[in-house]
Amino acid sequence: MSLEQTLRDRLEEFVKRIEKNTKSYIGYPVSKDFEYSELAELLKYPLNNLGDPFVDSTWKVDSREFEREVIEFFAELLRAPENNWWGYVTNGGTEGNLYGLYLARELYPKGICYFSKETHYSVAKNLHLLNMRHIMIRTTENGEIDYDDLKETIRINRESPAIIFANSGTTMTEAKDDISKISGILDEFSIANRYIHSDAALCGAINPFLEPRPSYDFADGADSISISGHKFVGSPIPCGIVIARKDNVDRIARSIAYIGCLDTTITGSRNGFTPMVLWYAIKKWGKEGLAKRAQHGLSTAEYAEKQLKEIGINAWRNPNAITVVLPEVPSAVKEKYQLATANGITHLICMPNVQKQDIDNFVKDLKKELQ
Ligand SMILES: *Cc1c(COP(=O)(O)O)cnc(C)c1O
Repeated sequence: MSLEQTLRDRLEEFVKRIEKNTKSYIGYPVSKDFEYSELAELLKYPLNNLGDPFVDSTWKVDSREFEREVIEFFAELLRAPENNWWGYVTNGGTEGNLYGLYLARELYPKGICYFSKETHYSVAKNLHLLNMRHIMIRTTENGEIDYDDLKETIRINRESPAIIFANSGTTMTEAKDDISKISGILDEFSIANRYIHSDAALCGAINPFLEPRPSYDFADGADSISISGHKFVGSPIPCGIVIARKDNVDRIARSIAYIGCLDTTITGSRNGFTPMVLWYAIKKWGKEGLAKRAQHGLSTAEYAEKQLKEIGINAWRNPNAITVVLPEVPSAVKEKYQLATANGITHLICMPNVQKQDIDNFVKDLKKELQ
């Protein structure tokens, strides 16, 4: 049985519209240069990665074997402690952040979560869901957490466990909070009861290839890290990766076992298709391919910054960022290129698919609109 002709026409039209809209955007951190058609066959099956990817299940229509390989790849990339990591493929960066905060709250129910003003909008919601005490910290001009403000705030609350929600690549300016500096502040006040979650939604798979390497991963002091899969890697379905220290996960897994449940992930049923997408991507590119993608993004961003400055636009970038920040642009240009804009600033994000030609087109349109 197939759809009536009118509905099929509508569907066809929709596909065309999506194709067109996908071509034009340069304002969101979502790669579009992927090709996963070899996986299409799997759409015939009710893949579901129900439960913990590392625990056997009676349900066999799953891709958990591939999911484990994906987690292992990222655990190595993020310098997770040997034999002491655990994780799963999430529905996106937000779920990974929720998981990290959940773990932190279970470990330190009386902890205070510190996060900067430039933190992704989903975090306020996550903190609300988890009913966690929290304090927002100022940021400096470039979008990075203000270490002086953090230090003063922690000083006042030094009796409480500290839960740090750090950004490695803020949404608007791709600013990176330095986890080593933050750990130093916690050391200064001898706060042993601490937890650091790293939100590396965009930059998690870029940072390892940067020189100097940003301070954001397990070796730098993170206890959990969340990355979006559909951003830098690229996926037709939103997804992500969360990795945490296994000793911490085991502590809360036990407390759940106590109530008769061994469920370690946030949702019960889990996507079995997206782990295949991520697996395909990492096998196809490997670390070298990811490094090349990062390098390409950086050089395009450098080019974009230069071209914009040449037409008199006050564009700037954080060190080694693929995000170029500029004053709010006229709405015709904003619409055409789907440019996210907030508080008077606009950004374009040089994802691996963005080419110099795309930048030239954008700069030409912007110049024309400004004249
Ligand atoms: C995109 C983003 C998120 C949310 O990730 P989703 O995959 O969209 O859920 C969180 N934090 C930062 C910094 C982001 O850029």
